[in-house]
Amino acid sequence: MLHVNENYSKISPTYLFAEIAHRVAAHEAANPGTRTIRLGIGDVTEPLCPAVIEAMHRAVDDESRRETFRGYGPEQGYAFLRERIAEADFAERGIAVSADEIFVSDGAKCDSGNIQELFSQDARVAVGDPVYPVYVDTNVMAGRGGIALMPCTKENGFVPSPGDFAAQGLDLVYLCYPNNPTGAVATKGQLQAWVDWANESGALVVFDAAYEAFIRTPGIPHSIYECEGARKCAVELRSFSKTAGFTGARCGYTVVPDEVFARDSSGAKVPLKPMWARRQTTKFNGASYIAQRGAEAVYSPEGREQTKATVDFYLENARLVREAFAAMGYECFGGVDSPYVWVDVKRPSWDFFDLLLSRAGVVTTPGAGFGAAGEGFARISAFNSRENVLEAVERIKKAL
Ligand code: PLP
Repeated sequence: MLHVNENYSKISPTYLFAEIAHRVAAHEAANPGTRTIRLGIGDVTEPLCPAVIEAMHRAVDDESRRETFRGYGPEQGYAFLRERIAEADFAERGIAVSADEIFVSDGAKCDSGNIQELFSQDARVAVGDPVYPVYVDTNVMAGRGGIALMPCTKENGFVPSPGDFAAQGLDLVYLCYPNNPTGAVATKGQLQAWVDWANESGALVVFDAAYEAFIRTPGIPHSIYECEGARKCAVELRSFSKTAGFTGARCGYTVVPDEVFARDSSGAKVPLKPMWARRQTTKFNGASYIAQRGAEAVYSPEGREQTKATVDFYLENARLVREAFAAMGYECFGGVDSPYVWVDVKRPSWDFFDLLLSRAGVVTTPGAGFGAAGEGFARISAFNSRENVLEAVERIKKAL
């Protein structure tokens, strides 16, 4: 008889966005003719930039001619893209990452969910609280319990420190900076502490840098490989989704350096790169040629300028939101090197959500939906048109 994987019954239901949708639908039904403004969702609103669109059009033309048609591509990604990434995202910042350590994928969600497959069932996992839920749910689906939650609070600037958790004997730690949902960034010293701890304790850091493009503050690390020793203890996830509007087009990548390893049951070192290569070649057939040509164009002079302009546009939205809340006496975090503003709403998260929805017709995301330590906060997303952000801010001021 076929039995189901009962670990699926242990993951919490996808309650957050379903509950938000339910409350928004009820509000709209009760208030016909009014327009709700959504500052809740983490999806981009601005279209792909011209440089990317032109490259994708050319790629479609390639696919239309026998001489340039591409069928299955390399599972690891085309060399033309991996070489551009190695140069532009790493070498130009003085970071040593080679093209053959880069694994192109269809986005960071899959990679952040799949990476845990490389590790034993008894790996002790830690995540921030609040957290992007994929790290937790994919480990629970795989049968790992007892996931350690590292509170990210005002007191620790939303960056937990390894010293507070070392006693728990952690093996696999997920860090995400700039952070979703708190919008916090980690300093080089804070990341270096995690790298030093991981190297001493034989743990691995999975560093999710999906929001790297939003970093503007000088000195804030764009990559964990800016820290000494990180090539031995960290893999890094990147995405073109928020950098360049690829949430629909789909492209991202993971860096697995040659030196990074875990151990087998006899204690022998096992390099992770061949394991990840094996995993990807077995279960993944490559990101689409068209998406990869589009991603390559993100690094052209025009592509860089255009994508930077879009990220600057979202950052200006974030500033408007942050300053409006601050002017009303709310303590705000994030929104400087991040598209997310994390507001201390001085009441239960869902009460604040209902208040803004009913009085202002503005949708936010209750912090409690990302974990217990998010209670009392709201995540406000800067992914929207300027017109909507300005109107939302005006409505919120009136409502509060
Ligand atoms: N990592 C974090 C922290 C995210 O917030 C998101 C998307 O919202 C992702 C990864 C997924 O990105 P992608 O679109 O590349 O799958």
